[in-house]
Amino acid sequence: MVTAGPTIEDLDPIRFISNRSSGRMGIAIARAAAKKRAEVILVHGPVQVRLPKSRRVRTISVRSAADMRKAVMQNLQHCDALIMAAAVADFTPVRVARQKIKKAGKATWVVRLRKTPDILAEVGRHPRRPFLVGFAAETDNLLAEARRKLREKNCDLMCANLVGSARGAMGGDYNQVALLWPDGRVERWPRMRKEVLAEKLIASLWPLICQHANREQRAR
Ligand code: C5P
Repeated sequence: MVTAGPTIEDLDPIRFISNRSSGRMGIAIARAAAKKRAEVILVHGPVQVRLPKSRRVRTISVRSAADMRKAVMQNLQHCDALIMAAAVADFTPVRVARQKIKKAGKATWVVRLRKTPDILAEVGRHPRRPFLVGFAAETDNLLAEARRKLREKNCDLMCANLVGSARGAMGGDYNQVALLWPDGRVERWPRMRKEVLAEKLIASLWPLICQHANREQRAR
Protein backbone atom coordinates (compact mmCIF):
# COMPACT_ATOMS: atom_id res chain seq x y z
CA MET A 1 0.00 0.00 0.00
CA VAL A 2 1.24 3.47 -0.90
CA THR A 3 -0.21 6.79 0.26
CA ALA A 4 0.18 9.95 -1.80
CA GLY A 5 -0.72 13.60 -1.93
CA PRO A 6 -1.97 16.07 0.63
CA THR A 7 -5.06 15.76 2.77
CA ILE A 8 -7.72 18.46 3.00
CA GLU A 9 -9.08 19.57 6.34
CA ASP A 10 -12.34 21.48 5.97
CA LEU A 11 -13.07 24.69 7.87
CA ASP A 12 -16.49 25.35 6.36
CA PRO A 13 -18.27 24.34 3.12
CA ILE A 14 -15.83 26.36 0.97
CA ARG A 15 -12.61 26.82 2.96
CA PHE A 16 -9.99 24.32 3.97
CA ILE A 17 -6.44 23.81 5.25
CA SER A 18 -4.03 21.78 3.12
CA ASN A 19 -0.41 21.76 1.90
CA ARG A 20 1.70 21.93 -1.27
CA SER A 21 2.07 18.20 -1.88
CA SER A 22 1.31 17.25 -5.50
CA GLY A 23 1.16 13.49 -4.98
CA ARG A 24 3.94 12.96 -7.55
CA MET A 25 6.32 11.04 -5.26
CA GLY A 26 3.75 8.56 -3.95
CA ILE A 27 2.24 7.99 -7.38
CA ALA A 28 5.71 7.34 -8.85
CA ILE A 29 6.32 4.80 -6.06
CA ALA A 30 2.99 3.07 -6.78
CA ARG A 31 3.92 2.89 -10.49
CA ALA A 32 7.40 1.55 -9.75
CA ALA A 33 5.98 -1.15 -7.47
CA ALA A 34 3.38 -2.16 -10.09
CA LYS A 35 6.20 -2.43 -12.67
CA LYS A 36 7.79 -4.97 -10.32
CA ARG A 37 4.47 -6.86 -10.51
CA ALA A 38 3.30 -5.92 -7.02
CA GLU A 39 -0.43 -5.61 -6.34
CA VAL A 40 -0.68 -2.00 -5.19
CA ILE A 41 -3.33 -0.15 -3.20
CA LEU A 42 -2.81 3.58 -3.72
CA VAL A 43 -4.58 5.71 -1.11
CA HIS A 44 -4.44 9.29 -2.30
CA GLY A 45 -5.62 12.72 -1.31
CA PRO A 46 -6.52 15.34 -3.95
CA VAL A 47 -3.51 15.01 -6.30
CA GLN A 48 -2.40 17.21 -9.19
CA VAL A 49 -1.02 14.45 -11.40
CA ARG A 50 -2.61 11.64 -13.34
CA LEU A 51 -3.27 8.43 -11.44
CA PRO A 52 -1.79 5.13 -12.70
CA LYS A 53 -4.07 3.20 -15.05
CA SER A 54 -2.41 -0.17 -14.41
CA ARG A 55 -4.70 -3.03 -13.41
CA ARG A 56 -2.14 -3.76 -10.70
CA VAL A 57 -2.94 -0.47 -8.95
CA ARG A 58 -6.22 -0.09 -7.05
CA THR A 59 -6.81 3.55 -6.19
CA ILE A 60 -8.74 4.78 -3.18
CA SER A 61 -9.50 8.50 -3.15
CA VAL A 62 -9.76 10.23 0.23
CA ARG A 63 -10.05 13.80 1.47
CA SER A 64 -9.06 14.27 5.11
CA ALA A 65 -6.44 12.71 7.37
CA ALA A 66 -9.26 10.86 9.15
CA ASP A 67 -10.47 9.43 5.80
CA MET A 68 -6.93 8.38 4.92
CA ARG A 69 -6.55 6.64 8.27
CA LYS A 70 -9.78 4.73 7.72
CA ALA A 71 -8.77 3.59 4.22
CA VAL A 72 -5.29 2.52 5.37
CA MET A 73 -6.57 0.60 8.40
CA GLN A 74 -9.32 -1.13 6.42
CA ASN A 75 -6.85 -2.46 3.87
CA LEU A 76 -3.83 -3.10 6.05
CA GLN A 77 -4.30 -6.83 6.57
CA HIS A 78 -3.68 -7.49 2.86
CA CYS A 79 -0.37 -5.64 2.76
CA ASP A 80 3.27 -6.71 2.99
CA ALA A 81 4.45 -3.09 3.00
CA LEU A 82 3.09 0.37 3.69
CA ILE A 83 4.91 3.32 2.12
CA MET A 84 3.52 6.56 3.54
CA ALA A 85 4.54 9.22 1.02
CA ALA A 86 1.42 11.30 1.70
CA ALA A 87 1.76 14.71 3.31
CA VAL A 88 -0.94 14.04 5.87
CA ALA A 89 -2.15 17.23 7.52
CA ASP A 90 -0.87 17.33 11.09
CA PHE A 91 -3.74 19.48 12.37
CA THR A 92 -7.44 19.71 11.57
CA PRO A 93 -10.06 22.25 12.69
CA VAL A 94 -11.73 21.32 15.98
CA ARG A 95 -15.09 22.25 14.46
CA VAL A 96 -16.23 22.31 10.83
CA ALA A 97 -18.83 25.04 10.32
CA ARG A 98 -21.92 23.87 8.47
CA GLN A 99 -22.34 27.28 6.86
CA LYS A 100 -19.80 29.68 5.40
CA ILE A 101 -18.07 31.58 8.19
CA LYS A 102 -18.75 35.29 7.66
CA LYS A 103 -15.94 37.84 7.60
CA ALA A 104 -18.17 40.84 8.39
CA GLY A 105 -17.27 42.41 11.73
CA LYS A 106 -14.00 40.46 12.09
CA ALA A 107 -10.48 41.93 11.82
CA THR A 108 -8.89 38.59 12.73
CA TRP A 109 -10.12 35.02 12.89
CA VAL A 110 -8.74 32.49 15.31
CA VAL A 111 -9.10 28.88 14.21
CA ARG A 112 -8.65 26.16 16.80
CA LEU A 113 -6.91 23.05 15.50
CA ARG A 114 -6.29 19.66 16.97
CA LYS A 115 -3.77 16.99 16.00
CA THR A 116 -4.85 14.45 13.39
CA PRO A 117 -4.40 10.73 14.08
CA ASP A 118 -0.82 9.71 13.21
CA ILE A 119 -1.45 6.84 10.81
CA LEU A 120 2.16 5.76 10.46
CA ALA A 121 2.73 5.71 14.22
CA GLU A 122 -0.48 3.73 14.73
CA VAL A 123 0.54 1.10 12.17
CA GLY A 124 4.02 1.07 13.73
CA ARG A 125 2.48 -0.04 17.03
CA HIS A 126 0.74 -3.06 15.46
CA PRO A 127 2.36 -6.32 16.60
CA ARG A 128 2.04 -7.75 13.05
CA ARG A 129 2.76 -4.63 11.08
CA PRO A 130 3.79 -4.59 7.42
CA PHE A 131 7.23 -3.34 6.30
CA LEU A 132 6.96 0.36 7.08
CA VAL A 133 8.42 3.31 5.20
CA GLY A 134 7.85 6.94 6.19
CA PHE A 135 8.78 10.24 4.59
CA ALA A 136 10.04 13.12 6.72
CA ALA A 137 9.70 16.50 5.01
CA GLU A 138 11.57 19.21 6.90
CA THR A 139 12.72 22.76 6.30
CA ASP A 140 15.53 22.43 8.88
CA ASN A 141 17.24 19.98 11.20
CA LEU A 142 16.45 17.33 8.61
CA LEU A 143 18.44 14.31 9.73
CA ALA A 144 17.83 14.71 13.46
CA GLU A 145 14.07 15.07 12.90
CA ALA A 146 13.98 12.13 10.49
CA ARG A 147 15.92 9.95 12.95
CA ARG A 148 13.47 10.82 15.71
CA LYS A 149 10.50 9.96 13.47
CA LEU A 150 12.09 6.68 12.38
CA ARG A 151 12.35 5.67 16.03
CA GLU A 152 9.07 7.11 17.33
CA LYS A 153 6.97 5.72 14.49
CA ASN A 154 8.80 2.36 14.57
CA CYS A 155 9.58 2.37 10.82
CA ASP A 156 11.92 0.12 8.82
CA LEU A 157 13.03 3.12 6.77
CA MET A 158 12.61 6.89 6.91
CA CYS A 159 13.20 8.92 3.72
CA ALA A 160 14.25 12.41 4.71
CA ASN A 161 13.72 15.23 2.25
CA LEU A 162 14.38 18.91 2.53
CA VAL A 163 11.38 21.04 1.57
CA GLY A 164 10.59 24.71 1.50
CA SER A 165 13.64 25.92 -0.47
CA ALA A 166 13.64 26.86 -4.18
CA ARG A 167 14.99 23.36 -4.89
CA GLY A 168 12.57 21.88 -2.36
CA ALA A 169 10.77 18.66 -3.12
CA MET A 170 7.16 19.60 -2.45
CA GLY A 171 5.16 20.01 -5.61
CA GLY A 172 8.25 19.74 -7.88
CA ASP A 173 9.55 17.09 -10.31
CA TYR A 174 12.76 16.40 -8.41
CA ASN A 175 13.54 15.12 -4.97
CA GLN A 176 16.68 14.57 -2.95
CA VAL A 177 16.51 12.18 -0.05
CA ALA A 178 18.62 10.66 2.64
CA LEU A 179 17.61 7.15 3.68
CA LEU A 180 17.77 6.50 7.42
CA TRP A 181 17.85 2.87 8.52
CA PRO A 182 17.14 1.52 12.03
CA ASP A 183 20.76 0.31 12.42
CA GLY A 184 21.95 3.92 12.16
CA ARG A 185 23.08 3.86 8.52
CA VAL A 186 22.40 7.02 6.50
CA GLU A 187 22.43 6.82 2.69
CA ARG A 188 22.52 10.19 0.95
CA TRP A 189 21.11 9.93 -2.55
CA PRO A 190 21.71 12.61 -5.21
CA ARG A 191 18.93 14.85 -6.48
CA MET A 192 16.94 13.05 -9.17
CA ARG A 193 13.55 12.95 -10.87
CA LYS A 194 10.87 11.52 -8.63
CA GLU A 195 10.19 8.68 -11.10
CA VAL A 196 13.87 7.63 -11.03
CA LEU A 197 13.99 7.92 -7.26
CA ALA A 198 10.85 5.78 -6.96
CA GLU A 199 12.35 3.00 -9.09
CA LYS A 200 15.60 3.04 -7.14
CA LEU A 201 13.70 3.00 -3.86
CA ILE A 202 11.51 0.06 -4.87
CA ALA A 203 14.59 -1.83 -6.13
CA SER A 204 16.31 -1.33 -2.74
CA LEU A 205 13.22 -2.23 -0.75
CA TRP A 206 12.12 -5.24 -2.75
CA PRO A 207 14.33 -7.89 -1.05
CA LEU A 208 13.62 -6.40 2.38
CA ILE A 209 9.86 -6.45 1.84
CA CYS A 210 10.05 -10.09 0.65
CA GLN A 211 12.10 -11.03 3.73
CA HIS A 212 9.61 -9.30 6.00
CA ALA A 213 6.67 -11.05 4.30
CA ASN A 214 8.35 -14.47 4.59
CA ARG A 215 9.06 -13.90 8.26
CA GLU A 216 5.44 -12.90 8.87
CA GLN A 217 4.20 -15.98 7.01
CA ARG A 218 6.37 -18.30 9.08
CA ALA A 219 5.11 -16.63 12.30
CA ARG A 220 1.49 -17.31 11.30
O1 C5P B 1 5.36 13.65 11.79
P1 C5P B 1 5.42 13.92 10.33
O2 C5P B 1 4.14 14.39 9.75
O3 C5P B 1 6.55 14.76 9.86
O4 C5P B 1 5.75 12.45 9.76
C1 C5P B 1 5.86 12.18 8.43
C2 C5P B 1 5.43 10.77 8.13
O5 C5P B 1 4.32 10.38 8.93
C3 C5P B 1 4.97 10.64 6.70
O6 C5P B 1 5.33 9.37 6.23
C4 C5P B 1 3.47 10.84 6.81
O7 C5P B 1 2.80 10.21 5.74
C5 C5P B 1 3.15 10.19 8.14
N1 C5P B 1 2.02 10.81 8.86
C6 C5P B 1 0.91 10.04 9.17
N2 C5P B 1 -0.15 10.60 9.85
C7 C5P B 1 -0.11 11.89 10.24
C8 C5P B 1 1.02 12.68 9.95
C9 C5P B 1 2.06 12.11 9.24
O8 C5P B 1 0.88 8.86 8.81
N3 C5P B 1 -1.13 12.40 10.88
